[in-house]
Amino acid sequence: MNMTYFSPKTEKRPSNIDGRGLFANEPITKGEIVVVKGGYVMSRADRDEVQFRIGPAEIQVTEDLHIGPITRTEREGGMIHMNHSCDPNVGVQGQIVFVALRGIASDEELTIDYAMTDDEDYEMGCNCGAPGCRRTITGRDWMKKELQKRYDGYFSWFIQRRLNQR
Ligand SMILES: [Zn+2]
Repeated sequence: MNMTYFSPKTEKRPSNIDGRGLFANEPITKGEIVVVKGGYVMSRADRDEVQFRIGPAEIQVTEDLHIGPITRTEREGGMIHMNHSCDPNVGVQGQIVFVALRGIASDEELTIDYAMTDDEDYEMGCNCGAPGCRRTITGRDWMKKELQKRYDGYFSWFIQRRLNQR
């Protein structure tokens, strides 16, 4: 049994975006659940310690809490392996349920936009290959008006509720 639930229509494969990714092994319809993220709930300080030991494998669930595996053994079954794309086909409901934003074809890579899930200080280059690629993505991209509009209803709960309060 995995720490994280993966739809039987998905599997991990080598990715052209980065390392390994999550792929559809048969067609997935809009709204279908593809992943439910599991793990230990940990403070940001604990997360930093875990990340130092086993690498990034967790996701943010509130302003200060993260969820994910804490040991190397748990890492494979706990890590989603979903890469970032500036033109994603997966979004978030709540904090841990990932659903298809649109129909996804067999062999297509499943991707999210980290703007939907992250509120942290980081910056990294993007090679997702999407026509509208931002080239540089940051942990504060959820603040971008055009992304707020595009992903409305699909941000992680702790970000979505800020947008709903406006
Ligand atoms: Zn990109």
